[in-house]
Amino acid sequence: MFNGRVVLVTGASSGIGEATALAFSAEGARVAAGARRADRLESLARKAPGEVLTLDLDVTDQESVRAAVAATVERFGALDVLVNNAGVMLNGPIAGADTAEWTRMVETNLLGSMYMVHAALPHLLKAKGTVVQISSTSGRVASAYSGVYGATKFGITAFSEALRQEVTAQGVRVVVVEPGFVATELISHNTDPAMRALARDMAAAMRTLQPEDIANAVVYAVTQPEHVAVNEILVRPTDQT
Ligand code: NDP
Repeated sequence: MFNGRVVLVTGASSGIGEATALAFSAEGARVAAGARRADRLESLARKAPGEVLTLDLDVTDQESVRAAVAATVERFGALDVLVNNAGVMLNGPIAGADTAEWTRMVETNLLGSMYMVHAALPHLLKAKGTVVQISSTSGRVASAYSGVYGATKFGITAFSEALRQEVTAQGVRVVVVEPGFVATELISHNTDPAMRALARDMAAAMRTLQPEDIANAVVYAVTQPEHVAVNEILVRPTDQT
């Protein structure tokens, strides 16, 4: 169904991004997989059934973003789907926070995904392609200790809706995917031990989602007929209240 189409996934070195890159590869797509950990991308490329281009990508660096998009188009001749997935979660109370962590979250989750859209859009317009934005349940409901993470995810929703209004008439679809708790390395980003413990307790109390569950949702949205725009998907573990 997806034979030969070109998909660029950011944050493809682990978790949801890796599973999504593998899922598209299994669908017959040519995949460009970007992140900073080259060794992890190499192992993804070995596992994938189809062709994978690994990209040394730091989404906070606009030059790196532009180079990754250019390398993808140079290698594959087009760009049909951008999966904007790279993200970090550094939770903790607002009072006394290390604001360098706020900067890192905003630069990675929000600005990084905006830079990716900016660089990819000319190609997506040409291909009548799709942008998939990996947001979160934290992009729908704010909660204590994830104020800045949630702000980046709410921001993604605002940006995505504006983008949708600007490009839908030109055939570009915009999909926001909002996962609940997924078992990945995300909680290990937290520098606050109390936050890591909280997340571990949450994980132990439920059957969490697996990265493949989100990859399935992404592939579902992108493989609908062209006149169908799946604009938003919320996927929670059944056990998550
Ligand atoms: P992981 O930690 O497994 O994956 C995060 C990915 O982002 C890694 O591949 C990492 O690659 C990449 N990344 C981080 N910073 C950068 C950067 N500056 N440039 C390029 N890539 C970067 O966690 P998940 O798979 O869980 O997270 C993926 C997305 O899903 C995130 O946006 C997260 O907010 C979202 N999400 C996750 C949920 C969960 O419960 N796990 C729930 C809701 C949303 P590298 O370090 O190699 O650069």
